[in-house]
Amino acid sequence: MCKVAESKRTKIKALLTGEQVDVNVRVKGWVRTKRGNKNVSFIALNDGSCLANLQIVADPNNISEDILKRITTGACISAEGQLVASQGAGQKVELNAETIEVLGEADPETYPLQPKRHSLEFLREIAHLRPRSNTFGAIMRVRHAMIFAVHKFFHDKGFVNVHTPIITGSDAEGAGEMFRVTTMDLANPPKDEEGNIDFKQDFFGKETNLTVSGQLEAELGAMALGEVYTFGPTFRAENSNTTRHLAEFWMIEPEVAFADLEDNMDLAEEFLKFLAKYALDNCREDLEFLKERALQEEKNLPADKKNELNLIERLEFVANNDFQRLTYTEAIDILKNSKPNKKGRFQYKIEEWGADLQSEHERFLVEKHFKKPVILTDYPAKIKAFYMRLNEDEKTVAAMDILFPGIGEIVGGSQREERYEVLVEKVKAMGIPEEHVWWYLDTRKFGTAPHAGFGLGFERLILFVTGMTNIRDVIPFPRTPGTAEF
Ligand code: ATP
Ligand code: MN
Repeated sequence: MCKVAESKRTKIKALLTGEQVDVNVRVKGWVRTKRGNKNVSFIALNDGSCLANLQIVADPNNISEDILKRITTGACISAEGQLVASQGAGQKVELNAETIEVLGEADPETYPLQPKRHSLEFLREIAHLRPRSNTFGAIMRVRHAMIFAVHKFFHDKGFVNVHTPIITGSDAEGAGEMFRVTTMDLANPPKDEEGNIDFKQDFFGKETNLTVSGQLEAELGAMALGEVYTFGPTFRAENSNTTRHLAEFWMIEPEVAFADLEDNMDLAEEFLKFLAKYALDNCREDLEFLKERALQEEKNLPADKKNELNLIERLEFVANNDFQRLTYTEAIDILKNSKPNKKGRFQYKIEEWGADLQSEHERFLVEKHFKKPVILTDYPAKIKAFYMRLNEDEKTVAAMDILFPGIGEIVGGSQREERYEVLVEKVKAMGIPEEHVWWYLDTRKFGTAPHAGFGLGFERLILFVTGMTNIRDVIPFPRTPGTAEF
């Protein structure tokens, strides 16, 4: 006897358009809810292809009671039947099930996700199951769309994607904030004659760490390919425990030959506008859901903590309005004379030029003073990294930070120091051993060129695009101090 071939699975997203009715289809997915009575059951099925569920109508004449009993919230089923125009309100189409197979049960006594809104804190504890919630499904789909949009933006401009190393031997950047990579026996590491740990005997024959940025290597690429970008994981052992810092995050770092600070700002602004527009054009259903969710969360906040614009309006605002550009020096003047500074309401009072800006100052500029994204340029040399190009005043560097409402710094970049002598001088002054950066310095010796680039923290972007407020909720498996479960 020959078995009739099982019909292929169709994704729920394709069915919900309502373009096809009165056809036989098979769907597979996870049960969100089941309700009904002894005459009929309604099953809301989600397969991750979109936010909305497909309603499955199960008539006990077709589907045995034994099967129906096993269909509970969280169970995985395969259902086949006729897709028909729905009689009920709320959906265009529904599936009249002819057969249902239970692929995996979910014991209602122990399955932790119930059909109600769980707290974000609780969902973090069940990160292995939280993609099955509406909120995280939406976030993950938006995150994917943004990954694709990042590559599209640079690809369409002719940039070359470069994979920079994850294990690095250069600690030129952010020393002290790095995760060590080693195969040494920690209980009994090899020692040299002086009794110090002998890294020559370690796997790479030297001290190595997880990278904090792909920039230095991206610059090498730009000096050959012209326009490159990296999009990779970065690691920072900063014990800061804020809602904007992860120990493992993804960063996008374009690097452009023959570009100055102005070109760099133009590129970053165009990029962020493109991403906002891409989300609006391609993630509408998920964004509408996330907008409503944020409005609900904000309900209990005091008026001055509420967003003036909703999520969709914020994205439209960024897509359609120019960012405010000003120098660090101008920003310091504004901050010094600001009400919160005079009234002592900043935790760190701005007294003089040269002070590093804290997130409270950045947020004042963006959220209270200008009420739009801000690009701050030309910071004091001594609070910025060694590779930033020294300005003619010899006090400031050609740096730029982009500050976003609700987030603070989303982009950090600069024109790079391309002059060999100036760079060597800087390296010495900052106490960076030349043997760590000799290859970087070489690019300034051999065919150097003006160039510029920036780093966009991908999860900070996703915070902005989804309206979520804790960075732990925009990456599938967050890594923060004390947390590396899952
Ligand atoms: P911050 O002052 O917020 O710590 P930073 O000055 O250390 O930022 P950069 O070294 O310029 O940041 O890194 C470039 C971008 O990477 C930042 O603009 C931000 O978007 C992102 N970023 C930096 N640190 C983190 C982190 N720990 N978790 C997530 N994103 C980060
Ligand atoms: Mn930092």
